[in-house]
Amino acid sequence: MFYIGVDLGGTKIAVGLVQKDGALIAKKSAKTDAESFAHIMDTIADTIAGLLEENGFSTEDVEGIGIGCPGSVDSRSGVVIYANNIRLDNAPVAQTLRARIGKPVFVSNDANCAALGENVMGGAKGLDNLVLITLGTGVGGGIIIDGKIFDGNNGTGGEPGHSLLRMNGEACTCGRRGCWEAYASATALIRQTKAAIARHPESSMSGDAQVSGRTAFEAAKRGDKAGRAVVARYLRYVAEGIVNMVNIFRPDIVLIGGGISHEGDYILRPIQRFVDRRSYGAAYTTPPRVKLATLGNDAGIIGAAMLCRGK
Ligand SMILES: [Zn+2]
Repeated sequence: MFYIGVDLGGTKIAVGLVQKDGALIAKKSAKTDAESFAHIMDTIADTIAGLLEENGFSTEDVEGIGIGCPGSVDSRSGVVIYANNIRLDNAPVAQTLRARIGKPVFVSNDANCAALGENVMGGAKGLDNLVLITLGTGVGGGIIIDGKIFDGNNGTGGEPGHSLLRMNGEACTCGRRGCWEAYASATALIRQTKAAIARHPESSMSGDAQVSGRTAFEAAKRGDKAGRAVVARYLRYVAEGIVNMVNIFRPDIVLIGGGISHEGDYILRPIQRFVDRRSYGAAYTTPPRVKLATLGNDAGIIGAAMLCRGK
């Protein structure tokens, strides 16, 4: 018997056939039609059917289906309450797919699923208390306590990106000002890079026609002073928020994923140094290691499949 894991994203639906131990056997993906709930449900069901057929299995071989969805997800009722970039408002995902496929369906937030996937098969294997931070368009978070997703009341907790870094600070997409996400996301880094270019027209970054999350890192690596300053400040924002997480949860490990994580050791070393110095009780204890998430996009599929274990 297998689990099916589904990672529902704004542009792509990725479906995987996952063994009960978390091993990903095969996967298949389809484009997301973000405008229609019914169409998204059809695409998920069709992609699952296609994946099973291609691998010589049928729904008889499936014990359950887990789905990671963006936004606020009530994991108990299987309803997506609200998603930013897909039309899923109060969408009864679990109920709809269960009726369609005839198997138990479990739903959680995509970042929670990624954290669970990293716990079962990735960078936090064997470490049952972890915080996963994804540095991408926003700052996503997944919190695993004793091997289980912690997502609070109605599954709407576990959003460290919207904890405060600076009162009355930068505007955040959530409506508040000064959230960690407004300083530590790739979007924020791009804004910080553009501001530095405006202040330092002599910087080599000025030649970059399309400023991206890589612009400041590349400049810093070739010794550009303004680039180095942007990166140092950005990593401080990231690290201050991680210390907040460490001081609340004191996990066994902190994992970093998302686009910015491709910078690897270049970001890990300064962040680890800061965490080692500034975590509560750092002089008397060993703060957690900060490492990279290792599964990439597969984490969400594997973690979603592992939701089926919890029934
Ligand atoms: Zn916010």
